[in-house]
Parts: sequence; structure tokens; C-alpha cells
Amino acid sequence: MSTSARRTPSAAAPVSAGSSGSPVADPPWIARQVQALLPQQGHALLLAGPSGLGQYSLALALARAWLCDQPTPQGACGQCTSCHAVDVRAHSELLVLMPEVLALELNWPLDEKTRDKIEKKEVKASKWIRVEAARAVVDFAQTTRSRGRTKVVLVYPADRLNTESANTLLKTLEEPAGDLRFVLATDAAHALPATVRSRCQTHALQWPGEAEALAWLGQQAPGSDEASRRLWLRAAAGRPSDALEWAQVGLTAGQWQLLPAAVSRGDGSVLSAWGPARQLDALQKCCHDALARASGAEPRFFRAADLPPPAPWIALQAWSRDLLQAAKTVEHPYSAGLMLDAWMARSASVWRE
Ligand SMILES: [Zn+2]
Repeated sequence: MSTSARRTPSAAAPVSAGSSGSPVADPPWIARQVQALLPQQGHALLLAGPSGLGQYSLALALARAWLCDQPTPQGACGQCTSCHAVDVRAHSELLVLMPEVLALELNWPLDEKTRDKIEKKEVKASKWIRVEAARAVVDFAQTTRSRGRTKVVLVYPADRLNTESANTLLKTLEEPAGDLRFVLATDAAHALPATVRSRCQTHALQWPGEAEALAWLGQQAPGSDEASRRLWLRAAAGRPSDALEWAQVGLTAGQWQLLPAAVSRGDGSVLSAWGPARQLDALQKCCHDALARASGAEPRFFRAADLPPPAPWIALQAWSRDLLQAAKTVEHPYSAGLMLDAWMARSASVWRE
């Protein structure tokens, strides 16, 4: 019973450097992990854990600290030439490997040829890490270091390496030349080839405390009230970056409270304002909590009082499987409107059985 709609990771989570280049302080739970990981000597680190905990922020904070001219035990100094170069996405010793779609979203520069092709619409920005990009890592690893210091490869999300790209990286990952360090981050470590996983030290992402997550949400969504922040955090099962996404779509208590009962009647009006991935994520949460109630457990995302009457266990399980299947292809909806209609008919059928 897990909600695992695969979504394109969002740029919503603040990172060490904003897209404008101005540094933003890391949230306290990220700062704690930077401090704990800095003394480690391994050359390849895999940051793994559920989405929304700040994998990307942590990976970037570590890369920035490894490259910093005057790092402190807390991390990068934020003042030196190197830190500045990372902040403006122009550090010659940092190679960022990510799907083109995400690089565009997070303002990482693409190589000229690729950018040109995407602009001329000769190719579509890839949702996977292309093998050409992985080959660039091999070249990057072999070039002489200009200033005789650490070089860093950041891979995010690492589960977007296809088999060929992963194979291309393996040798470099196993025997990196000189001071080359890797940081890989993923919310789907199980989807990584075992050959990649085994070459990395794994760090399990830590969860923030509720109070610090709420405080952080307050900074990110100034003017929001405490009740809304609690609602967003609940709708995100305690994952702060996901909660911030709910804040950004303006989720209200009224919408969230009405949702499970509406879904059980096949009424998708609340969902229609959201994109397909978010719709599906919300449906998976309705299904999760309906299953929780059916098995006598506490609901996680909604209040028990807001859940619809119990539905047959077998029907709920079949619905859960259908939603999981839909989540695998939700990034390519051919018609969001038609899809929502079909999903609503499907959910209403669960409560009719
Ligand atoms: Zn620095």
C-alpha cells in the first residue's frame, strides 16, 4: 500500500543556490546531513529515500562543499570563487548528469549541440539520462585537473540512468581517477542496477521533525496560516518538498476534506484543476486510506471522518493495482480530460461493488 506515482522531481525544493544564483540557506535537516556526511571519505555516495525529502538539495550541498576552497565542518563557505561558480551553474569541475527535461527546469546548462536541437525541435528534451551524457562523464574523468583539486559528478535522479548509460558509467564509478567524487541521488534506489548500487556507499535520507518541517514551510510560503501548513504536510505524508508543492497549487482544507467522498462518487471536480500526475497521486492517497480503514489501520493522508463508507477489500486492492499501473505511464497522458473521466468511472465502480 504505497503511493508511488512517479513524478518528475520538482524544482520547488530550495537548494543551496537559487536559479538566480543567490544562495539560499539549506533547511536544518539537510544541513545536519551535510555535516554528518562531510567527514566520509568514499568516492561514490548514493543518497536514497522517498521523494520530497530533499535528495537534490543534499546532493548539491555536498558537491558545493567538496569543491569549496574554504569548507567548514558545516559545509561550503558560500563566499569563495568556487562556491560562486557552483551557484551560477558554471563550475568547470562539477558535472551534473540529469535528464534534459529536469536540467531545463533546474537551470543547469545543456551542451550547445543538445540545446540547439531541442530549440529547433529536432529532438525532444529527454526524461532519461542519455548515454551521450554518461560518455561525457568518462571524458570529464580523464581530463587533467586544471587546479589539481576535487572534481565532482552529480547524478540526479540516478534511477533515470538507462542500462546503457549506467554501463557507460560503471568503470569510472569503480575506479575514479584522482580526486573524482560521485554523488548520486534517487527516490527509487531499487530501480538502479545492482552494479551501480554496489559501487556506492548508501546514505538513507533523514526525515525532518514535524516542527522544523512546519517552520520551513512557513518560510517558503510566507503569509500561510498554521492550519494550512499542517494540511499540506499531512497531504504530503510529512515530506516537506511535496508539502510545498501542495502549497503552490493552493490546496485548501475544504478541497482535501471533500476529496475522498467525492472520488467514491466518481466526482473529479476537485481534481480537474491539477495535472495528471497530481490527480493520480491524490487518487492513490484516497485508495491508500480506504485500504487502511478497511484493514483497521489509521488513515495517513485524510482524517478518518472524511473517508467514504468502507468498500470491499478485493475491489480496493484491484483499484490500487490499476492506479499503480497508471502511475507508470502518467508522464505521457494523451488526453488529461479523458483520463480523469476514466479514472473517476473506475473509482466510483469500487464503491458500487
Ligand atoms: Zn566556498
